[in-house]
Amino acid sequence: MGSDLLIRRARYALMCDESGAWVEDIDIAIEGGRIAGVGRDLGDAGSVIDGRDLLVMPGLVNLHTHLAMTLLRGIAEEVDLQGFLERVWAEESRIMNAAGVYAGTRLGALEALLGGTTTTLDMYFHPREAHRAAVDVGLRHVTGPLFFSFPGPDHLQWDERMALARAWPKTLESLGGPFVPPALMPHAVFTVGVDNLSEIAALAREQGALVHTHASENDRENSDTIEATGMRPVSALNASGILALGPVLGHGVRLDEHDRALISATGTSVAHCPGSNLKLASGAADIVGYREQGIRVGIGTDGCSSSNDLDMFAAMRLATNLARLVHDDPAALSARDVVRAATIEGARALGLADRIGSIEVGKEADLIALDVNAPHLVPVRDPYTSVVFSAGRSDVRHVFVAGEPIVLDRRSARVDHDNVIAEARRAVTDASPRAGQQRL
Ligand SMILES: [Zn+2]
Repeated sequence: MGSDLLIRRARYALMCDESGAWVEDIDIAIEGGRIAGVGRDLGDAGSVIDGRDLLVMPGLVNLHTHLAMTLLRGIAEEVDLQGFLERVWAEESRIMNAAGVYAGTRLGALEALLGGTTTTLDMYFHPREAHRAAVDVGLRHVTGPLFFSFPGPDHLQWDERMALARAWPKTLESLGGPFVPPALMPHAVFTVGVDNLSEIAALAREQGALVHTHASENDRENSDTIEATGMRPVSALNASGILALGPVLGHGVRLDEHDRALISATGTSVAHCPGSNLKLASGAADIVGYREQGIRVGIGTDGCSSSNDLDMFAAMRLATNLARLVHDDPAALSARDVVRAATIEGARALGLADRIGSIEVGKEADLIALDVNAPHLVPVRDPYTSVVFSAGRSDVRHVFVAGEPIVLDRRSARVDHDNVIAEARRAVTDASPRAGQQRL
C-alpha cells in the first residue's frame, strides 16, 4: 500500500518529457493528486486500474477555444472569418447571457474532457459563469475577463471590464478548482484599441496574468488592422506592451518576417487552430517555420461556431497533415512533435509546464488513458504515430485531472451527461430576443 491510485502495467505510456520517450508495460502511481512513481512493480494502492489495454499520456491542452460557443455549433457555414463574426455576434446577443454561457461551457467542458482534453485556454463573455461551469465538470480551465473597446453582448462598459479584471485573481480563488494562472483576454487588435491594450498590459504585469488574444487570423484582419491603426496586429500588440509579456496568440496564420521576429524575441506562443483555419479558409499557419525560428506552438480547436467540435485528436492530425502538405514534405512535422505541441508545449505557453504536460514524478496527475484494444489501433509500432494518425477522441477511456478521476469508462464521474445536454438544448431554444434585437 502506498499511493491513492495505480495504473498497473500500462501497455504504453507517452512521457512527453524532454527525452520524448515512450515506454511499455509500466506502472504509474498517483498520490495526493501528483504522479508519485513511474516504474515497474510499484506495489499496491487504494484503487488499481488494469493498464494492459491502455495507452497513457498527458492530458491534452487545448490552447485556444471558446467553450460556451458549443451552443453556436453549425451557425455559420460557408463564410469567411468576417462573415462568420457577423452571424456569431448577432446570435450571441440572443443566447449568450450568463445562463447561456454557463450551460454552453458545461457542454463544452464535458465534450473536451470526454475527448481527452484536461486543460483549456478558454476566452469568452461572463468568465465567472464559464469558470464555475468548467470547474464543476472537472476541467483545468484557464480563463479571464474578455475585453472589447465597445459593449459586447455582455453590455459591459470599459471600466466595468477593468474592474472585473482587477478582481479576477480573487474570483478565481473563490471558485476553486485545479490551479490555473489568472488571465486577461483582449479579444483582438481590431476590437480593442491600442490605448486600451496598454491598460491591459499594465494590469497583466501587475497581476502576473497571462494574456490571450486573437492575432493575424487571416489577410483581411491584417489589412483592416493596418487601416485602423497603421500597424499590423503583432506590431500593435508590441506597441501596447502586451507582446513583451509573452502572451498566447490565437491563430497567428498570417505572420510576416517582422511579426515572427517580434514573437520569437518575446517568448510569445502561437495557438495553432488548423480545423478552424481550414474551414474558414483563413490560410495555413507555417508552424514548421515558426518552430524553426524558436516560436512556441501549441494546438487549439477554436470555438465550435467555427470548427464545430472540440476534438484535439482531429486537430493534431490536421496540424500534421497540413504542415506536410504546405511544405511538400512528409517529414515536415512528426507525430511526436505534434503530440508535444498538444501537451507540454501548450502547458509551457500557459506557464504551467512545472505542473502538467508530461508524465514526470512530482507533476500533477493530468493524465488520459486510451483503450488500444480496438481494431484500428492494432498493431502499434510507434504509439505517437498511433495517437495522431489512428486514434480518435472516442478511444479515450479514463481521464484524470490533478489525480482525480474525472472520466471513467467514458462516463463523467462529475456530471450527468443527459442533464448537461438537456440544459444546453434548453439554453438555445428558450432564449428570448433582447430588446431591440431581432430574432434570427
Ligand atoms: Zn477564437
